[in-house]
Amino acid sequence: MKILRTITEMRAAVREARAAGRTVGLVPTMGAFHEGHLSLMRAARAQNDLVVVSLFVNPTQFGPNEDLAAYPRDEARDAALAEAEGVDILFAPTASEIYPDGFATSIHVSGITEVLDGAARGAFHFDGVATVVTKLFGIVRPDDAYFGQKDAQQIMVVRRVVRDLDLDVRIVACPIVREPDGLAMSSRNVYLDERARRRAVALSRGLDQASALAADGFRDALTLTGAVRRMLAHADIEPEYVELRSLDDLSPVSELDGEALLAVAARVGGARLIDNHIVRFEGEPPAGEQS
Ligand code: AMP
Repeated sequence: MKILRTITEMRAAVREARAAGRTVGLVPTMGAFHEGHLSLMRAARAQNDLVVVSLFVNPTQFGPNEDLAAYPRDEARDAALAEAEGVDILFAPTASEIYPDGFATSIHVSGITEVLDGAARGAFHFDGVATVVTKLFGIVRPDDAYFGQKDAQQIMVVRRVVRDLDLDVRIVACPIVREPDGLAMSSRNVYLDERARRRAVALSRGLDQASALAADGFRDALTLTGAVRRMLAHADIEPEYVELRSLDDLSPVSELDGEALLAVAARVGGARLIDNHIVRFEGEPPAGEQS
């Protein structure tokens, strides 16, 4: 596996691969790899000739009061894990390589960025994500790019950019990888002390319970979000949001009909955690459901 740090080197490597007729898969990451990241690398490895993983803690998607400085970084460990997955290139540029002096462009997606994490963290967050992902697509020119469903809104934003700017890349969404007790894997889980780690499982437990209710025919958004809120309350967690939203445009869903995104965000101890399920209504509501 090669570790490349400059855009010039990255472009040259991809140009060579493309000239040889090889397909290119890209996995954008901020490092501190866990099984979630590795699952994306495996999917990319299975479907492409050249696999590129980018490792870049993108400063523009962090707010002034967020954890940019504290974000876990261990490039040597990450490189060993990526190499073990058969990754060909780890692209690990500096911030000044990506944002040289005079950098003045921002990609802003309207609408779907204004709710959930866009509302909770601020509009800058998805501007930062959309801009860096567009740059990575321009640098690597992948055939396929792999993202985790854990960041469901991020995938929708990236898909919107690809569609609106006619970028020639296929976006592949990969399932959420969880710890044995259900907690969604996240680089930020290292911020959880022992007690917070025990409480944090309430997010996935609440989502499990809401999914079970939906499968039993409960369609009302307040019933489903209420199940998550109750589970969080038991763990003494005050959510930033628990919302049922459309998978098309993230508009609010009051009554489940088919599939919708049930998304939660909460601070637990020192970590801000997010999780989601795609909940499905597949049958008639039971007699007596209150809506
Ligand atoms: P990050 O390094 O946190 O920016 O994440 C890089 C990519 O890994 C993003 O596409 C995330 O959605 C994805 N990812 C993070 N955690 C998980 C997880 N638990 N399961 C699947 N994908 C994940």
